[in-house]
Amino acid sequence: MASASDKNRRLLMDLLETDGNGNCVDCGVAEPKWASSTLGVFVCHSCSGLHRNISQISRVKSIFMDPWEAEEVKFIASAGNNAAVAKYEQKIPAFYYRPTNTDCMLLREQWIRAKYERKEFIFVDRQEPYSAGYREGFLWKRGRDNGQFLSRKFILSEREGALKYFNKQDAREPKAVMKIQNLNASFQPSKIGHSHGIQITYLKDNSTRNIFVYHEDGKEMVDWFNAIRAARFHYLQVAYPGAPDTVLVPKLTRNYLKEGHMEKTGPRHTEGFKKRWFTMDDRRLMYFKDPMDAYARGEVFIGSKENSYTVLAGLPPTTQGNHWQFGITIVTPDRKFLLACETEADQQGWIAAFQKVINRPMMPQEYAVEAHFKHKP
Ligand SMILES: [Zn+2]
Repeated sequence: MASASDKNRRLLMDLLETDGNGNCVDCGVAEPKWASSTLGVFVCHSCSGLHRNISQISRVKSIFMDPWEAEEVKFIASAGNNAAVAKYEQKIPAFYYRPTNTDCMLLREQWIRAKYERKEFIFVDRQEPYSAGYREGFLWKRGRDNGQFLSRKFILSEREGALKYFNKQDAREPKAVMKIQNLNASFQPSKIGHSHGIQITYLKDNSTRNIFVYHEDGKEMVDWFNAIRAARFHYLQVAYPGAPDTVLVPKLTRNYLKEGHMEKTGPRHTEGFKKRWFTMDDRRLMYFKDPMDAYARGEVFIGSKENSYTVLAGLPPTTQGNHWQFGITIVTPDRKFLLACETEADQQGWIAAFQKVINRPMMPQEYAVEAHFKHKP
């Protein structure tokens, strides 16, 4: 005879089949195998670990391995993922970043804390740290010369359309003024070597500049990130009046299409191959001597196939010098770029990233960007 616990487990498994419960309520990954007996939601293994950090609010157990009480199952049946979304996600600002299972641990942890612990999306006044249009505070910023992190004051002002930082606490003049118009921020924990690390990029004289920052407190760092997104959202709403949120939200911040080491040679193709760190930021291919350099050694615009851009596996047979085995040739209207990867997997990954933008027709504003690249010395 089946035990009461087995019966409860079967009821839970039936609930998994009902609407909304087939995906993790927090990150969306399919087939969750854990449930919270106090929140009444189904979560994936990875998110269940983050629920343990808020054990006073969420008690998680494995659907298949742990014993279940009839009362717990009854509560989960009365709640479920859809009900939890309706309650805990009722007032999420359009600009707020919703992490998925591929995002870093910090973003996912703070998302879960924001929802259930701080209830930020039930009580709108708790969103002030990122929705007020102004934010100031100290961040650890990586110094350009020795790579040490130093405490720096940052001010984000939607009204001024800028993020600024100051080298001295009492300094009147900011060390840098980064326009919200071309600001980007992305979490880069492994590159920066800190689980809260963010890379902020902006354009100066039409070249990309990087700074690397973190805050010891995870909530503060994610609040900064969402404050930047909020400022970008309001900037874009003014720049593109009437554009729907679905068009603007993907433009707020972006992750890189691909990053990693490749070798490259110079414009004459006789300079010898040098190992560089490459970053593919939408149509902008940049290369750096060090992954955390403040600015790129070079930037290449990658247009579309309609405009005579092509990517090919391999290198021309006349290629000189020692280089990694797996070549890539990028053909642009001006010249060929010869690159080499250490492994075939790297080569395939880079070709896929290049093809993604080459196969996408260029938008009118991208022609202006392309023209700017051509006028560079
Ligand atoms: Zn999950």
